[in-house]
Amino acid sequence: MTAEDLGMGFPIEKITEGRAKLTVPKLGEYVNASSDYAPSKAPVFYNPVMELNRDLSVLVVQAYQLRVEREISVCEPLSSSGIRGVRYAAEVKGLKNVLVNDISARAVKLACYNVEINGLGDQVKVENKDANCLLSCHGAPKKRFDVVDLDPFGSPVPYLDSAIRALRNNGLLAVTATDLAPLCGVHPKACIRKYGGKPLRTEYCHELAIRLLLGCIASSAAKQEIGIRAIFSHSTDHYVRVYVEIQYGAKKADESIKNLGYVLHCFGCLHRETVKSLLDQKTEKCPECGLRLDYSGPLWLGKILDSQFCELISSENAQRALRNSAKIARLLRNAKKEADAPPTYYVADKLSGKMSLPAPSIVALIRALQDDGFEAVPTHFNSRGFKADVPALKVQEVLKTLATSNS
Ligand code: SAH
Repeated sequence: MTAEDLGMGFPIEKITEGRAKLTVPKLGEYVNASSDYAPSKAPVFYNPVMELNRDLSVLVVQAYQLRVEREISVCEPLSSSGIRGVRYAAEVKGLKNVLVNDISARAVKLACYNVEINGLGDQVKVENKDANCLLSCHGAPKKRFDVVDLDPFGSPVPYLDSAIRALRNNGLLAVTATDLAPLCGVHPKACIRKYGGKPLRTEYCHELAIRLLLGCIASSAAKQEIGIRAIFSHSTDHYVRVYVEIQYGAKKADESIKNLGYVLHCFGCLHRETVKSLLDQKTEKCPECGLRLDYSGPLWLGKILDSQFCELISSENAQRALRNSAKIARLLRNAKKEADAPPTYYVADKLSGKMSLPAPSIVALIRALQDDGFEAVPTHFNSRGFKADVPALKVQEVLKTLATSNS
């Protein structure tokens, strides 16, 4: 197909993703230098690497629909080519309608075309508005959506307030954040400014990123007397993604912000602990090694995953043949195991590196901790990571024993 066929005025190509046929910018045409990032250089944003994100989104929205047992409406206010909205309409059963929207006229033109070639004109409506205007127009009763999916390029923060307002009671908010430099502590000031919490460059910074984002969502929601419950989250490649159920009511909001607090971290021995308020901190010194503790937060200390919901997503995944099915199954297996584990995780190599020991087998280390009577589980965040309710110095002891028994 040529660009002229569509009158787009830029190179395009046909792809398939899930059950959808799509026309997207031909990314190869937009890379001039090796540092060029083609998805954002193209006249309409499209990132093939986000396929797993979109696959999981389809599975989560389907799982949510099965749980609420009603026909649902979905809004994707930052839709670019419409790929996500088209996939929802083509792949989720029990969907009433989908509203996709983008501020870019070129994106909207492509989205309209993608809706049409999939024969989804009756189900998917396309708008060309500012996302906040669109969402605010849907902030009144009877106009609200069951699901709002914020999938921006960068930070979702500018859209959180209006997205929450546009959700009905018990609605689902899905949020992607790709601005990991602030969230993972490379640009701490930007994180404090945008997300209202201090990040920390630790080996578990991706989990902190999810918790900072959830903390920010909980604060936004609480201002509108709405509480949140995180039912699924994941960190993959260059982004984090969270799925939050909202509940109307001042009491729900109060309960939800009780989950806000801080993670204290020792860069000396890798000890970590959580506190609800920095005033609860008995001393600024690490209880294990005496060095000064640093902190991250305020952030969400509550659950970031619900194991039963993970089960529901897994069973949806098992019924579909997606390109990423195996990867998703692996991710969900670990997510289920870590759903009830405490905040933060250890990374085996970080610990062994600190102790100048050889990197241990992660399976052997988890088993050794379990044999010592601790709860230890793998984590989807890092294939060399594990969650365990164990002091860092104890993990170091176990590691040393393991290294000696292997030598
Ligand atoms: N969700 C898409 C990717 C979106 S990229 C996917 O799954 O592929 C972000 C999009 O947001 C871009 O297309 C950009 O044009 C659009 N955008 C940026 N600011 C906006 C605003 N204020 N209102 C609506 N759309 C906006």
